[in-house]
Amino acid sequence: MNPNTVDLNQCRVAIIGAGFGGLAMAIRLLQNGIDDFIILEKANEVGGTWRENQYPGAACDVQSHMYSLSFAPKKNWSKRYAEAPEIFSYIQDLVEEYDLDKFIKFNQEVISAQYDEKQAHWQIELKSGKSVQSQFLVFASGPLHVPQIPKIKGIEHFKGEIFHSSSWNHDYDLTGKNVASIGTGGSAIQYIPEIAHKVKQLYVFQRTAAWVIPRDERAYGALDKKLFAKYDWFRKLHRARLYWSNESRVVPIVQPKLMKYAQKLAEFFIKHQVKDQNIAQKLTPDFVMGCKRILISNKYFPTFNRKNVELITDAIQEITEDSIITKDGKKREIDCLIYGTGFITDPRIYLKNFKCIGQHAIELNDAWKDGAESYYGITTKNFPNLFQLLGPNTVLGHNSVIFMIESQVDYILQLIQLVEKTNTQAIVVRPQVQDDFNEKIQEKLKGTVWQSGCVSWYQQDGGKNFSLWPTYTWKYWLETQKVNPADYQLLSFSQQVNAA
Ligand SMILES: Cc1cc2nc3c(=O)[nH]c(=O)nc-3n(C[C@H](O)[C@H](O)[C@H](O)COP(=O)(O)OP(=O)(O)OC[C@H]3O[C@@H](n4cnc5c(N)ncnc54)[C@H](O)[C@@H]3O)c2cc1C
Repeated sequence: MNPNTVDLNQCRVAIIGAGFGGLAMAIRLLQNGIDDFIILEKANEVGGTWRENQYPGAACDVQSHMYSLSFAPKKNWSKRYAEAPEIFSYIQDLVEEYDLDKFIKFNQEVISAQYDEKQAHWQIELKSGKSVQSQFLVFASGPLHVPQIPKIKGIEHFKGEIFHSSSWNHDYDLTGKNVASIGTGGSAIQYIPEIAHKVKQLYVFQRTAAWVIPRDERAYGALDKKLFAKYDWFRKLHRARLYWSNESRVVPIVQPKLMKYAQKLAEFFIKHQVKDQNIAQKLTPDFVMGCKRILISNKYFPTFNRKNVELITDAIQEITEDSIITKDGKKREIDCLIYGTGFITDPRIYLKNFKCIGQHAIELNDAWKDGAESYYGITTKNFPNLFQLLGPNTVLGHNSVIFMIESQVDYILQLIQLVEKTNTQAIVVRPQVQDDFNEKIQEKLKGTVWQSGCVSWYQQDGGKNFSLWPTYTWKYWLETQKVNPADYQLLSFSQQVNAA
């Protein structure tokens, strides 16, 4: 089909989201001769995470050469860990290089999707009032996309400026202002050092300290870039070295006893960087390193040596029109409040208002009421032809999620090809296969550092880890290399066909 004829009404594949995931899916579809697809993107620009997270200091914490698509590499990354503008521009370049613009429908937020069993297609409703029918539906809507905003008493009375790190107000000048920052996760530790020197006073509100280790700040020299551009094997070798060094981090994750050696070094790093040892103590986490995401920064801890930065560990009691009051009764006047509070990661919550209805009128939110589960984070029982990127238990704490996205995209392609090859209309994972798989995943997670007792964004209430892949990523790659047809039912309209 000529891509120019792909419209909003009907297509073979509909992809939700134009971030790394949606674009990777689109490129691989094109490379495999499928061009009747559309990408539905609620914003007016591609980039997902990197369009939104443009706060000062925003950068990846997986090395750039690893945090990029293997089949569409960027050879001239400026430094080991690129900053948001460079990553954003890489994503924009992908759109140009693969001529993806014509497939993307901007300002089209998907609000619901229902599987039509008779027609074997998805009926997708958009906020704009339009609708789309597609045979296959790919969720690439991102695992870290909906801001987590804490409920704080009195917040509605605050008259100053408020924003979340992912929607930074660049028009608001922080110079000379009293600023409160809530949260000390991945984004906060990046922007706090960047704004501390500008503001009059910075109050950092910490509920839980984070393990932060040194960051490799080196830029790539002209020679590196030249060699990467000229010799593909050299760039691949570099990427392979990064990949395997990241993979080696799994060893102490699955054997937490080994983590204590790394933790000792991390403790030394805090004591070495923070002059006041009382503050250093407060900045030292009380949980095993790795239980929550390990962060990297050389600048975060030294920020607390500044006279205009105060670390506050007392809980917030209330916010008034111009102040924050902590439980100890202390009042601090502020002009601006920044939420560095991360994102809602539990799909049952961030998909709460998104109605997705599969076979037998089953709603995804109901299917996941005890916790999100799927098969390799990609397919879900009772939801034929619905595929997900970075779905349950496929996010990582130690390596690049783009590696996972690539494995998933290629697996999805195989599923689509299997439907085509068997002259059927739909494919759905067998319930027992999904259940057995999840039992194994939860079993594997037991005994890892992630289950060592902290509360993290990897878990839902009750402690179940719905988020992380529990072991090496090469195992994921290996296991998803080839679809096992016996894991699936193939459906021909309302008939069932055996794939095996
Ligand atoms: C600050 C930050 C730093 C990170 N750094 C790293 C890192 O170093 N390494 C790493 O591996 N991971 C990192 N991550 C995780 C990151 O989210 C992923 O690496 C990656 O960007 C996910 O890509 P995605 O396409 O799946 O999702 P996203 O980039 O979130 O894109 C999803 C897209 O879907 C769109 N969308 C969502 N819902 C709808 C809807 N209903 N209708 C239409 N469109 C919709 C969104 O607008 C968005 O454009 C980071 C995340 C954050 C927030």
